[in-house]
Amino acid sequence: MSGSIRRVVIVLGDQLDRSSSVFDGFEVTRDVVVMAEVAAASRQPLSAKARTVFFLSAMRHFASALRDEGVRVEYTDLSAAETGSLAEVLGRMVRGLGGEEVRVVEPGCWHLRHALAEALSRTAFYGFDEDRHFFCSRERFDRHCAGRKQLRMEFFYREMRREHGVLMAGKGPEGGEWNYDAENRASFGREGPGFLPRVMRFPADAVTVAVVREVEQFLPELPGSAAEFDFPVTRAEALVALEDFVTNRLADFGRWQDAMWVGEEVLYHARLSAAMNVKLLSPREVVARVERAYREGLAPLAATEGFIRQVLGWREYVRGVYWRHMPGYLEGNALEAKAPLPAFFWTGETDMACLRDAIGQTLRTGYAHHIQRLMVTGLYALLHGVNPREVHEWYLAVYVDAVEWVEIPNVIGMSQYADGGVMASKPYAATGKYLKRMSNACSGCRYDPEVEEGERACPFTRAYWEFLERNRERLAGNQRMAMQLRNLARRGVKGS
Ligand code: FAD
Ligand code: SF4
Repeated sequence: MSGSIRRVVIVLGDQLDRSSSVFDGFEVTRDVVVMAEVAAASRQPLSAKARTVFFLSAMRHFASALRDEGVRVEYTDLSAAETGSLAEVLGRMVRGLGGEEVRVVEPGCWHLRHALAEALSRTAFYGFDEDRHFFCSRERFDRHCAGRKQLRMEFFYREMRREHGVLMAGKGPEGGEWNYDAENRASFGREGPGFLPRVMRFPADAVTVAVVREVEQFLPELPGSAAEFDFPVTRAEALVALEDFVTNRLADFGRWQDAMWVGEEVLYHARLSAAMNVKLLSPREVVARVERAYREGLAPLAATEGFIRQVLGWREYVRGVYWRHMPGYLEGNALEAKAPLPAFFWTGETDMACLRDAIGQTLRTGYAHHIQRLMVTGLYALLHGVNPREVHEWYLAVYVDAVEWVEIPNVIGMSQYADGGVMASKPYAATGKYLKRMSNACSGCRYDPEVEEGERACPFTRAYWEFLERNRERLAGNQRMAMQLRNLARRGVKGS
């Protein structure tokens, strides 16, 4: 490249999308891409080793693919030991380059959005480009909310299905129903899952190996491990992972969506969230591929609809909730939960078998499926009144797919009910008997989910009644809690 720079394009770690709006009209001869790895961004907020490796490896691969196209990429890596926050480092890099205009897609984190706007205020930056990755823009979500007293995902999801023509038969839903949950969500029972399809793994290549080494060198204090790292880190790998899911697991996705089995990490889940969240995959192509599999007879309607609801429904919905309610959303603590996060969340060392399995897997791999997050770790924190802010910091740190716009509503809203009912119509509170039904963990545990008192009392079952007692008044007006509160009254539990 010779002469002055026309456009400086900033690409953040979760914006690895060659078709994003900042590349519209991109000119290889006059434009420059800027990317940065900043150690401070892995320390605050905390990011575990596997998560950090995922982002940095995917970024390096993306930068390398751009360079192969002849694009000039200015890239600061960990070894540059840049001081300051990510926004400050990017601001410095951009100012050093000059350029007639600075372009960046809106970040997926409220705080980074504001920090970046501030850092770029003395450059030729005119505002954020829209994030075209999602089905539903922020403005469209606001229209959905207009005039509604209460938001419910189900109604939003139906609108999205109609609007985007997904899984429709004329004007109505395919098969006549919007929701096939009644056919989904079985447990494996005593006999267990039996044969499980092998999940496609992507062993670390030379780039990832170098990243792992540098993370150990420059950020040794980060929690967790990257020794087993095997997530897709390029678009080509992500497409292979999508095909692997559609071919081998989609057909049984719905049926076993809520089931757990000790030592089985993925079961019939997609393991695609990380690739989607850094935009190696677009939700449109994922939804279209899954719908095509159904139309070709590769998957039943219930599994297909169940999966599409997660991506077109929940994923878009939580993003809308995040942007509509931040920054105050993070301060929510509707149940006034104040206990500290137990230390075993960072080690997995506990004699509760369900938590040992879910947390151990999380720290080792950076992945746990939805029901492990909601009904094992999340449930424990909810029942034991752990401060939602600390719960949020843990989830944001440990999962490879964790980015604020999706993590915060799931933790603060769905799992901890700290938003007082914006996301979920009632707290997901249950006893250990739920875990006994959905998993085999209890059979290898020193506690008994049926026992409420004494040495063998299951900490979930015991805490469930304490939770209801503690929150009896706060939840009294919630019709969906009426039966649980009636059961509490019948037991005659005294105030705790
Ligand atoms: P599958 O079970 O196969 O589902 C398919 C896809 O649907 C996922 O890849 C994901 O993109 C989407 N999806 C499913 N459920 C949700 C949901 N509740 N919200 C948004 N999208 C959803 N997901 C994240 O991507 N990042 C997070 O940081 C995150 N934190 C969570 C924290 C808690 C407490 C809970 C209860 C859920 C969280 N989720 C998060 C949602 C969900 O658990 C993960 O998306 C899912 O487990 C990822 O694994 P998978 O790709 O195998 O998903
Ligand atoms: Fe978890 Fe309680 Fe079952 Fe033990 S008995 S595995 S603590 S639910």
